[in-house]
Amino acid sequence: MEYLSRILACATEKMQFNYHPLCKQMMLTHLMFADDLLMFCKGNAHSMVLLLRAFSAFSNASGLKMNPQKSCAYFNGVQSGLKQEILSISGFLEGTLPFKYLGVPITAGRLKIKDCASVIKRVDAICRNFLWEGGVEYNKAPLLSWQKVCSPKKEGGLGLKWSETWNIATVGKLACWHWRKVCQVRDIVKQGFLNDGNVGSYTVKGCYNWLRGRNDEVTWYKSVWCTLAAPKHAFIAWLVSQQALRMKDRLYVYKVVDDNLCCLCAMAIESHTHVFQDCPYTLQVMNLVTTSLGASFSSGNVLQQIKRRRWSSLRKKVTSAAIIAVWYYVWIQRNEAWVHHRLVCPSLVARQIATSLHNRFHTCCNKPIPSRDRLWLSKVRLM
Ligand SMILES: [Zn+2]
Repeated sequence: MEYLSRILACATEKMQFNYHPLCKQMMLTHLMFADDLLMFCKGNAHSMVLLLRAFSAFSNASGLKMNPQKSCAYFNGVQSGLKQEILSISGFLEGTLPFKYLGVPITAGRLKIKDCASVIKRVDAICRNFLWEGGVEYNKAPLLSWQKVCSPKKEGGLGLKWSETWNIATVGKLACWHWRKVCQVRDIVKQGFLNDGNVGSYTVKGCYNWLRGRNDEVTWYKSVWCTLAAPKHAFIAWLVSQQALRMKDRLYVYKVVDDNLCCLCAMAIESHTHVFQDCPYTLQVMNLVTTSLGASFSSGNVLQQIKRRRWSSLRKKVTSAAIIAVWYYVWIQRNEAWVHHRLVCPSLVARQIATSLHNRFHTCCNKPIPSRDRLWLSKVRLM
């Protein structure tokens, strides 16, 4: 593709090539995304021929051909005779404007505010779908609201930016005075921001925080997002802390399942508190893991208990990461039990957790370790 860019650059160095009027300043001839190619030139046959020759040279070298039946030429303000000439030279079909590419409306004129709003909404939707499904489409109800996900980590979110709100905050910084509508938004936002007791100069970050509103801080965020926890473990721990996983107690209320019994022990109602704190299966895994780390905890919220211990910061991080790994592996086992009716014995799960913790520790812990921690780490076989 770099070769194509070079060939197109050579073609446009020829004096006869005319850039598209809106691309002249940037000397833009083409854009590429995956196997899509968009080429731009002024509406004349000669410029079109130069672009096609450049692409033909690229095809000969690379073996990559274009399919004229799947390629379109888009015109604006070109006379019909000239249009027909260009279409017959290229063999392309005539496309009609506007059309959407990657969710962005492509028009002959400037994008309108409503076009941009739909793009920003789409960006948010793609991010949201990717988070919950790993793809572009997601048709189920999300586990948490996007507003919650976009809160900072200390307020219980993932710290992502909400494009819609961020865009409004960014508008306040724009200096494009000729965008009358945009400037109206800017003035309203700025005035509201400054009138609401926000002193000092306007910043996008400050305005974004003002627009989204602040929530109370959560007590668990440092434990959940500790650097020694593997990201996939931390993500499940985040959902556990928000009580956002689809547990049978809730599914039963909505009549999605026929019973609400815990998949791991079948002795109690399956809720977040039961599965991650009280379930005998979880307690067995938890005891094996915490004992191997030289710790014991009473029933209840273990992460809170770790915070209160008079341990070094490293020991707290390692133990929190271990608890978070327990939650992750228990959740995997719960799903296995539900779907495949299989349950691995707690000692095997504890061994998987120990291996995972060992690998994570040696990948992430690059700082010099104080002697107090060295002794403990050698006892728990992490060093
Ligand atoms: Zn149970």
